[in-house]
Amino acid sequence: MSDIPAREAEVYMQAARRLPVTIVRGEGTRVWDSDGREYLDFVAGIAVVSLGHADPQLAEVIAKQAHTLLTVSNIFYTEPQIELAELLVRHSALDRVFFVNSGAEANESAIKLARKWGNIHKQGAFEIISTNNSFHGRTMATVSATGTPRYREPFGPQLPGFVFVDYNDLDALKAATNERTCAVLLEPVQGEGGINVPAADYLRQVRAWCDEQQLLLILDEVQTGMGRTGTLWAYEQAGIEPDIMTSAKGLGGGVPIGAVLAKEHAAVFEPGDHGNTFGGNPLVTAAGAHVMHRLVEGGVLENVRERAAQLAQRLHGLEDRFEVVKGVRGVGLLQGLELHREIAVDVVGAGIKLGILLNPVRPDIVRMMPPLTITAEEVDRGVDLLEEALRQVTAG
Ligand SMILES: *Cc1c(COP(=O)(O)O)cnc(C)c1O
Repeated sequence: MSDIPAREAEVYMQAARRLPVTIVRGEGTRVWDSDGREYLDFVAGIAVVSLGHADPQLAEVIAKQAHTLLTVSNIFYTEPQIELAELLVRHSALDRVFFVNSGAEANESAIKLARKWGNIHKQGAFEIISTNNSFHGRTMATVSATGTPRYREPFGPQLPGFVFVDYNDLDALKAATNERTCAVLLEPVQGEGGINVPAADYLRQVRAWCDEQQLLLILDEVQTGMGRTGTLWAYEQAGIEPDIMTSAKGLGGGVPIGAVLAKEHAAVFEPGDHGNTFGGNPLVTAAGAHVMHRLVEGGVLENVRERAAQLAQRLHGLEDRFEVVKGVRGVGLLQGLELHREIAVDVVGAGIKLGILLNPVRPDIVRMMPPLTITAEEVDRGVDLLEEALRQVTAG
């Protein structure tokens, strides 16, 4: 256990920038490090641990499933897989589900669906319009679809067939559409790009354009879905329905699972077209089904809306007290504090010393995405700690 960072430096590929904390245990919104220090967790595994850490009911579901059946491959039927698929179909605008193991793999699957759909229904149209500052994953197809050059450039040449336009710019999207275009790929709110919330009617106008031009609208709800924004899916708040949607992050409450969902007309996979070994196995789908039950039955979404209003109000309160605070952006429990200076890393570092985990999603933006089950007292304490971190960093 001792000196994990030094051991990591010897054996692990140095692909991640890590913070100097070795976390050994969690409970609800709190985690503890290897020295026994407690932290309030406003990162939650990057919007993953939706029901909080070590939720007793979820832990029991996982343990019971582990004692029953872990995996048999997709050559056979299993009950938890179909139960979660039924729940997702019942509680979304989509008709069919395919399970994968991550957000990137869900988007990879969505890209394959859209290309096959273009081949069948649009004379081989294959181009997908994506947006600048987007994030869709780290596989080759999804980095090619990601409008953030630093994720793409070391790995060229890219997969062809992606064009990029500014987010929240309908005219640019229209101008980029041509006879080769088969789909538009968007996050309802850009997460990794800095919590960019589009204009209120943007998604509705994109939907109308897709209908007019016979394009599939693919919504990447990997970060925004599963209750994060206060409704089960972010698209509900825009009053639209996508043709294809991806989910992952919060879907399993902490176990690795992703899903691509499609309307019947876009669900063009046929036997043999696509597959995976682990996707939708009984362990992860039992966990996902439990998370779904809790979200649709348990008052969790109400908690997200109430705690989100509280968090946003408290964050807005910092605007007056700190000159460096530029503004607050976000939806639900996906909030960012925008700063006038590029000090997000310093604020996060100060927060760690004070006992709160935050995320510097951009040099000038501190991101907060706590468990959906966070309490009112924890929201207040978290903002108090963030405020103290800001005070320390800006005092120097
Ligand atoms: C995190 C994320 C992904 C990638 O998910 P992984 O599970 O890391 O592959 C894709 N899209 C969005 C919007 C994300 O936030």
